[in-house]
Order: sequence, then structure tokens, then C-alpha cells
Amino acid sequence: MKVHNFNAGPSILPREAIENSAKAVLELDGIGLSLLEISHRTKDFEKVNDEANALLRELLNIPDTHKIIFLGGGASTQFFTIPYNLLEKKAGYVNTGVWAKKAIKEAKNFGETQVLASSEDRNFSYIPKGYQIPSDLDYLHITTNNTIYGTEYHTDIDSPVNLVADMSSDILSRPVDVSKYALIYGGAQKNMGPAGVTFVIVREDILGKVSRPLPSMVDYRNHIANDSMFNTPPVFPIYVVREVLKWVKAQGGVPEMNRRAHERAGLLYGEIDRNPLFKGTAATEDRSLMNICFVMNDGYEELAPEFLDFAKSRGMVGIKGHRLVGGFRASCYNALPKESVEALVACMREFEAEHTK
Ligand SMILES: *Cc1c(COP(=O)(O)O)cnc(C)c1O
Repeated sequence: MKVHNFNAGPSILPREAIENSAKAVLELDGIGLSLLEISHRTKDFEKVNDEANALLRELLNIPDTHKIIFLGGGASTQFFTIPYNLLEKKAGYVNTGVWAKKAIKEAKNFGETQVLASSEDRNFSYIPKGYQIPSDLDYLHITTNNTIYGTEYHTDIDSPVNLVADMSSDILSRPVDVSKYALIYGGAQKNMGPAGVTFVIVREDILGKVSRPLPSMVDYRNHIANDSMFNTPPVFPIYVVREVLKWVKAQGGVPEMNRRAHERAGLLYGEIDRNPLFKGTAATEDRSLMNICFVMNDGYEELAPEFLDFAKSRGMVGIKGHRLVGGFRASCYNALPKESVEALVACMREFEAEHTK
């Protein structure tokens, strides 16, 4: 049976990237050694690191003012690394769900942390808008795609202060004006690569402004000065990232990823809205193109476990919703083919035919 991978993260990667990475594990570029058994300071790995860096810069059109680093620790480590480096007096956060809340909790260890807006009143089903951003903040932190609740910012917001964004789950899915952000970060394992590497894109001139001493590993400047090799970087995940970025470029870059994302999301939201058995959970204008959340419609709630089994029997993997939202979540990252969404839609229609009252 063909399997359709809707996992939320770690998640689907281009087959080609997986195959090329598997080959490098066996032997890297004819050097007689595995990628896993060479020094990260050899020319062979330096080339991989440099290419990953250059490809990301090219694909996201990252200006020279911003540096790219690849680190360990996941996005969660950035939740405290960011305030460590940037929070002197006061930071503003927008609370759009679990990940934003975790970032807020860490920031509070470093200074005054204002929650400027929140969508908690409606279980994070929308993106707050129209709030004031004080001009005396060290930075404003947003989460551009809320992986659990299926909400997403569809534009780059205007901020009078340094804008910091967790883009773990929508990086490379839409063109972003990087110049509007002071710092962009995320775990790679949703749309960029495997678990184990974190990307940070940071405007260099915002660093070195806080008065507290910084442990060396926390100080972004050390990682920038050493091209992500201040210590041993996550060698294998960086290799896979390079392969994924090569694939994105070959497909037509970020604009093409965005076209595909709209195509997939259009198909699935179209069915969710049409099919009387299902309904979406996120506010229409804030619906994520990456994580599509839906539940059984009113009157059909008791069918949820049955639909899950039904979908599983037809090859759908990873569509159980997060426990905080319930229902279903189909994560539709860059590497997910349109055919997988079509298969899920067919599955929903078949289920409808069997169950309509
Ligand atoms: C998954 C996720 C995280 C957590 O990433 P880790 O790499 O596991 O620390 C943070 N923010 C968002 C938006 C996520 O989707």
C-alpha cells in the first residue's frame, strides 16, 4: 500500500535528499570514508557547510546584513538563546500557542516580557491583529506558523522594533522579506531537513548590545565568526539540509514551493468546507498552508475514531490531531506530493458516502 506522510515533525523529506544522504553515509564523494567518520574541519565537509549556507541565502534572498548559522539544540534552545543575546530591558511577545508560550516562559528569565497580544481566548484559532507595538522594546517575537493549531501569518508584519520570528514550520514555504526581520530561527525537522539542526538567520548589528556576560556557546557572535564550527556542528543533519535545499532550488525555489503549498491547501480546505462531515478549526483568513487542522462537524463527533482508522487503512500516516486541538491535522510540508492530498480528499469523500445521515 502506498503510504502518505502527513507527519507534523519530523516529517516528509524529498526522497532524492534521503537517497543522496544515505549514499554519503556509506561513502562521501569517493573519498573512501563515510560522512560520519571525518573531521568537520576537512575540506570535504567545509564544502557541504558552505553550500548549505549559500543555498539558503540564495533561496530566501538573504541580504549581506544577515548571517546564517546552523546549531544544535532545536528551536527550543533558541527560546532562551534569543533573550540571552537580545533582551536588555523589555521584550514583546505575541502568544499564538504552545511554542510561543514556551518562548515567553524562557524570556521571563532575562527581563521584562510583555505579551502584547494573545489568541488564547479562542484556543489559538486565529492570529491576533491590530495591537500596539511599543517602540521601546528590545525586540518583538512572533511565531509565523503555529504547527499545533494550524494558523499562519501570510505576510511579513511591519514592526517598529527588531522583529524575531520562529519559522520552524513554514520556512521555505513562502517568499519572506528577510530584511524585515532581525532574527529568524527554527528547528530544521519540519520543512528543511532532519531533526538535529537548527537554523538561525540574524542581522549582525543587533548583537553585542546586552550587558550580561554570555556563555561562549550561547553567544551568536562565536558561531558566526566560525561559520557554525565554533564546536562540532551537527554534521549529518547539515548534509541532509544541503540536499533538501538543492532539491528546493531544482524544483523552482521558494515561489514554486509556495505555489504547491497553495495548491495542496486549496484542495484540502476545499474538501473540509464542502464535506458535511468535517469542519476546519482555524479562522479562515489565518489558515496555515502547512498544518491543516480539522475536526468532525457538529453531529458527527462520534465518528472521529472511525475516520482515523478508515484513513489509516488507506495509507494516511500522521493525521491524528494534536491532543490540544483534537480531530485531525494533515501537515503538508514542501516535500508532500499533491497526490497525497488527493488521496486524503478521496478518503474523506468515501467516508462521507458511507456515513451521511
Ligand atoms: C516544532 C516546533 C518547535 C520546537 O522545535 P524543537 O526543534 O523540537 O525544539 C518550536 N516552534 C515551532 C513553531 C515548532 O513547530
